[in-house]
Amino acid sequence: EEDVRIHRIASSIRVIPDFPKPGVMFQDITTLLLDPKAFRDTVDLFVERYRDKRISVVAGVEARGFIFGPPIALAIGAKFVPLRKPKKLPGEVISEDYSLEYGTDKMEMHVGAVQPKDRALVIDDLIATGGTLCAAIKLIERAGAEVLECACVIELPELKGREKLGDRPLFVLVKGA
Ligand code: AMP
Repeated sequence: EEDVRIHRIASSIRVIPDFPKPGVMFQDITTLLLDPKAFRDTVDLFVERYRDKRISVVAGVEARGFIFGPPIALAIGAKFVPLRKPKKLPGEVISEDYSLEYGTDKMEMHVGAVQPKDRALVIDDLIATGGTLCAAIKLIERAGAEVLECACVIELPELKGREKLGDRPLFVLVKGA
């Protein structure tokens, strides 16, 4: 049953206060990965939602979108595209700057990885302010493709990241604080 699976997933996520700095409640999904049933249930819940949506690309945000994205992509028959930190991708890239709590960062995608006809799902482990997912959406839309939905394991609703995504729906499994 779905509630049982969600509960198991929520219980398997470890919360570490004051990491990486004071005041942050870090949602640690490495403990979810230590529970094969919780990891399996996480992937299954996404696959059940997306298998019949004609998604052609799963785009994963570095680094933890690289853990959840590929098993989903394989199960639904979509390609996987890594959205990476600067200077990691060897080919020609397009890049998008975005703001963090302190300062800015950059996200890059290989030119040609996403095509105008593609229907994309964007995956990350967690949405906080939404800045990271916004940058991911912009990269995919600049390639001419459509973002059908963004999906995360965890949402921190108090930070209102969902509002930043505009029209693109956000699907999450659990909510944290
Ligand atoms: P944001 O751009 O503010 O939505 O931040 C989301 C990104 O930062 C994701 O890639 C998360 O992995 C990471 N992140 C932000 N806050 C947390 C948190 N409290 N616990 C774990 N990861 C976080």
